Amino acid sequence: MSEIVLSNITKSYGSHLAIPGLDLDIPKGSFVTLLGPSGCGKTTTLRVIAGLEQATTGEVVLGGRTVYSSRTGVFVPPERRGLGFIFQSYALWPNMKVDRNITLALSEAKQPAHVIKERLSVALAKVQLTGLEDRYPSELSGGQQQRVAVARLIAARNAILLMDEPLSNLDAKLRTEMRTELKRLHRELQATTVYVTHDQVEALTMSDIIVVMKDGVIQQQGTPYEIYHDPANLFVAEFIGDPRINLLDGTLSTAGGERFVRFEETDTPVPAGLQSTDGPVTFAIRPENIAIVERPGPASLAAEVDIVQPTGSQTIISLSVKGHRITALIPRFETTLAKKNVWIDFPADRLTFFDKRSGTRIP
Ligand code: ATP
Repeated sequence: MSEIVLSNITKSYGSHLAIPGLDLDIPKGSFVTLLGPSGCGKTTTLRVIAGLEQATTGEVVLGGRTVYSSRTGVFVPPERRGLGFIFQSYALWPNMKVDRNITLALSEAKQPAHVIKERLSVALAKVQLTGLEDRYPSELSGGQQQRVAVARLIAARNAILLMDEPLSNLDAKLRTEMRTELKRLHRELQATTVYVTHDQVEALTMSDIIVVMKDGVIQQQGTPYEIYHDPANLFVAEFIGDPRINLLDGTLSTAGGERFVRFEETDTPVPAGLQSTDGPVTFAIRPENIAIVERPGPASLAAEVDIVQPTGSQTIISLSVKGHRITALIPRFETTLAKKNVWIDFPADRLTFFDKRSGTRIP
């Protein structure tokens, strides 16, 4: 069942069309991430759901209730949409202590005192801030302030949570911890969550569904697995994955009933059933799928190792094949390969193909 339905949303700022027509269905209880580069319209979409921004045209339905329709003129203001928010700046009230920050919405909604007390203590315990309820936000670290914002969401028990880059002000270590916390929060509250980020790791680690956007247009919507392994086009392929996917230009050909992609005089077999005629093509292979081999096989390419960068459990290896830069990633700590000559293979079942002109994935 859909909890959030956006139909044909457009949003203009003056003459600038930020969202040219967006349809999105978000299932109840899911964690959906809007992902894309700066300016792609993620925040605008979230603000349209929240009612902080009014779409130019279209319809927004939350939990079966129409909260915006350009056709009928309905516009329900944010505070009456039953949403919880958490934004980049946590928007804590500086002049209120932690407990008031967490319970303000509950007291404004005239919840009985014992309910407020109970929810406060549960929320504080969940984010491990018990004992700090008498502090002001300025007396807390950035991470603790973040957790107050999370506690406020826990206490409010909204069916829908909207989060806009909530972790971007945190240092790397805390960000990783908070990712786990937010995921746990989602599992416990089972609230439909829409999360905005430009950080692909956040998207991949936390989401049930990722919606990749560019220029206000959805490029692909799918599970993290689908987005990573079956990118719909070159934009998604390049945007997801660190180190970046390798994109190479080759030529598809058929010989002796078999199909190959020719790259620098070497023919690599391609997956059976690839739906493309022979000719120029862009193909892609993720760094972790490049095989560095000791003895060359029939489709091996000679490569020179340029830079070797161990990251701990993995090593990023920059290679050069006849002037083409190729990145490989191996699952171990490696330092001995620098400046060596090696052979690499592209395993056929790890290649994905894209139309050179449109950038669309060839199935
Ligand atoms: P970021 O990650 O940088 O926040 P975003 O993907 O969230 O980017 P939006 O903030 O939704 O992008 O902006 C989408 C487009 O709309 C951008 O081109 C932006 O410049 C424009 N835009 C957003 N808000 C306004 C505004 N108040 N007035 C004019 N243009 C705006």
